[in-house]
Amino acid sequence: MKSISKQQVVQSVDKNLDQVYQVSTMVSLLDGIYDGDFYMSEIKEHGDFGIGTFNQLDGELIGFDGEFYRLRSDGKAYPVQGSDCSPFCSLTFFRPDIYHEIKQRMTLEEFEEEMKRVMPSENLFYAIRMDGVFKKVKTRTVELQEKPYVPMVEAVKSQPIFDFNDIKGTIVGFWTPQYAHGIAVSGFHLHFIDEERNAGGHVFDYEIEECKVQISQKLNMNLRLPNTKDFFKADLSSHDLVAGIEATEGNPE
Ligand SMILES: [Zn+2]
Repeated sequence: MKSISKQQVVQSVDKNLDQVYQVSTMVSLLDGIYDGDFYMSEIKEHGDFGIGTFNQLDGELIGFDGEFYRLRSDGKAYPVQGSDCSPFCSLTFFRPDIYHEIKQRMTLEEFEEEMKRVMPSENLFYAIRMDGVFKKVKTRTVELQEKPYVPMVEAVKSQPIFDFNDIKGTIVGFWTPQYAHGIAVSGFHLHFIDEERNAGGHVFDYEIEECKVQISQKLNMNLRLPNTKDFFKADLSSHDLVAGIEATEGNPE
């Protein structure tokens, strides 16, 4: 057998750099498929940056600079363990293509409009990182679920919501084109962690005081589906995707 040349190795890494590595799908979470087969021991092969959730919906994943955290419903952040498993996450190697600075106060709506001007096309995938000071950040963390699992629309009804005010920290996540809704969450899907790496969650709303924005453009998506009985048997065709994702990922107000 021929050994792989150094050049081939370099090429495969370069290809990885340009992709979103997508573990399972948003529609399977909606259906209550909360146990996956993707272990965090593998995570660094597929990215140094990402967001997602954990088996039994036990917390929110956030990672950047190769450091990954689990934000639990007790409001605290825990370093991710190799034995932690995820039923849904989006990962990438973050290499910024675009730098942008926000110097005045900006609401979520204003920032999203600004980003749409900055991003070359809404039809591509982007990883986004925002480091700065936030007037407010409103988050939730999903809560550990016990079997038999209820659909996510039900599961999020008891989710704890956190309001952070005048806080330094980092918001990271992805822009997903509308056509990929159901695989991931179309539009902006963002998670937050404070500067001390103590607390955070899935972002519903925010107001920027000032922040540095970095955007990493992605032309590839690698979709990895769970090799589990639950996923094989799930009926993923019966969901009203738009309403379901809005109810589970959008601002409950
Ligand atoms: Zn989320």
